[in-house]
Amino acid sequence: MEKSGNPPPYTETAPPALGFVPPPRPEATVTQVVVGAVRLDLLQITYLMIIFFVILFTVTQVVVGAVPQAFGPHQQSATCPHCKQQIITRTETQASTKTHIIALVLCLLGCWLCCCIPYCVDSCQNKNHYCPHCNAYLGTFTH
Ligand SMILES: [Zn+2]
Repeated sequence: MEKSGNPPPYTETAPPALGFVPPPRPEATVTQVVVGAVRLDLLQITYLMIIFFVILFTVTQVVVGAVPQAFGPHQQSATCPHCKQQIITRTETQASTKTHIIALVLCLLGCWLCCCIPYCVDSCQNKNHYCPHCNAYLGTFTH
C-alpha cells in the first residue's frame, strides 16, 4: 500500500447525497403570522376575523335591541320621562353603521359620485327623538 503525501483537496460544499431532501424551513411561507406561541396562516386569520365581526354585530344587535323601538320615523307625541311633560318629539337624522356600509360598498363598486347618497336619504339613516323642552334623548327609530 502506497501512502500519498497530500490529503485529498477540501471542497466547501459537498454534493448532495442521492435521495436527500432538505427539510423545509419554517419561515418559508409568507402567509403565516406568529401570535405569541401560536402560528396562524392566512385562512385561520380570515376565519378569526369573520368570527370577531359576527360577535361584534351580535353584541351590537343585542344592545340596540334592548332599547324599546317605540318611536317612528316622524315626530310624535310622547311623555318625556325626564321632565314628565306631554311633548311632540324633535327628530334629528343621524348616519348609522348601515349608512357607512352602504357608502363603502358604493365606493368599492366604483360609484364615487353615488357614495354620498346614503347620507342624504332619510331611509338610510336613523331618526333620533329628543324632548323639545329638556333636550333629553328619548329613543331612535332604525329602518
Ligand atoms: Zn323632557
